[in-house]
Amino acid sequence: MSDVLIIGAGIIGAACAWRLSQAGLSVRVLDRAAPGGQASQAALGVLTFHGRPDTMPKALRVLALKSSYFFPAVIEELQEAVGERVHFRQEGQLFLAMNDGDLPSLEETLNVNREEGAALERISIEEALRMEPNLNPEIAGALYAPNDAWVDNTALTQAFVRAAQLAGAIFEQADVTAVENGGGRVTGVRSGENRYEADWVVLSAGAWSGQIQGVPGVRIRPRRGQAYSVEGSYFQRVVHSPRGYIVPRGDTQTMLGATVEDVGFDVTNTPRGLGSVSKGAFELSPKLETSTFAGAWAGLRPGTPDDLPLIGPSAGRPNLIIATGHFRNGILLAPITADLVRQLVVGETPGLDLRPYSPDRASLKV
Ligand SMILES: Cc1cc2nc3c(=O)[nH]c(=O)nc-3n(C[C@H](O)[C@H](O)[C@H](O)COP(=O)(O)OP(=O)(O)OC[C@H]3O[C@@H](n4cnc5c(N)ncnc54)[C@H](O)[C@@H]3O)c2cc1C
Repeated sequence: MSDVLIIGAGIIGAACAWRLSQAGLSVRVLDRAAPGGQASQAALGVLTFHGRPDTMPKALRVLALKSSYFFPAVIEELQEAVGERVHFRQEGQLFLAMNDGDLPSLEETLNVNREEGAALERISIEEALRMEPNLNPEIAGALYAPNDAWVDNTALTQAFVRAAQLAGAIFEQADVTAVENGGGRVTGVRSGENRYEADWVVLSAGAWSGQIQGVPGVRIRPRRGQAYSVEGSYFQRVVHSPRGYIVPRGDTQTMLGATVEDVGFDVTNTPRGLGSVSKGAFELSPKLETSTFAGAWAGLRPGTPDDLPLIGPSAGRPNLIIATGHFRNGILLAPITADLVRQLVVGETPGLDLRPYSPDRASLKV
């Protein structure tokens, strides 16, 4: 019997395990494979603390902006807890308009996000090219976001796992098939013949969260992302256009991302997918066309019908907390999600209005 059972040891489950163990609760995390081996490993580690209003709902921008206030402190705390460095760089990011058609969206991004409190400034094309000489010289406009950052998402996920273990959490291999219910509450979970009992269950099984029996209404669909890397260092910081982005990985490699595809639970790389990644990246930097290919990968993001995560108690089962559906932002939102889940479990008032993220919200029912 545990105080809390967590289904899934991706970055969300691992971060929740850390915060809940720190709160003095006995925590058991069940994953059918090694921790952190799915989407949390496929991510590119981009931490953008704002978003384009035409593609990112306001309630998501709220979570992103709040994350900017404490992400660096979480990295510090985690490094201290595990005694290892997690590579985190806060060198800002550039957002580029590649032609006149991209300019209205760039302008709207600047105005809306600045009004909401994000650090974002218009810079000249010359300034952008000075900051990043390998950018396409034909760019039509640029924004600079000085607080935006990058983190080694694989190291971060493993650091959450390690910190949770050091705080007492147990990670166990188990393929969870169902959540068990009784008397309007969850009583535990089932994995084949095995039953695990707990006072609380947290569902954080990423793109697979909708497959677990006994949890009605969790509408999660896998959204494949393909990405690849090339040898060499071309940029100092992450650069974006509306059609692609480029991410420096240390001093030796450069990552190019990423598709968003609805192809079920298929994690293969395809020529069409990698071709569209190339198209977006080469528009940002034609120099990459002759770079040396290093490797490709794909992962399944947990998508929701309205692109907002599910964070909160399951409808009618107050001790089943849903923490999934983070789509393109699970690395960015892991710390804030873990804080909110801890608050819900220990009975504190959550630090923000959780209604937009409720697993029972109206926008999920259409
Ligand atoms: C190409 C790509 C680029 C991305 N880039 C970024 C980025 O730059 N920044 C960002 O913030 N986000 C990014 N993301 C999104 C981010 O990766 C996800 O939002 C995040 O990793 C989701 O974490 P998770 O813990 O919910 O899921 P996962 O990491 O997928 O973990 C789910 C875990 O649940 C386990 N599981 C599933 N079913 C069961 C079961 N029945 N029983 C037991 N265990 C189970 C799985 O084995 C897995 O370990 C990217 C994603 C992709 C694919």
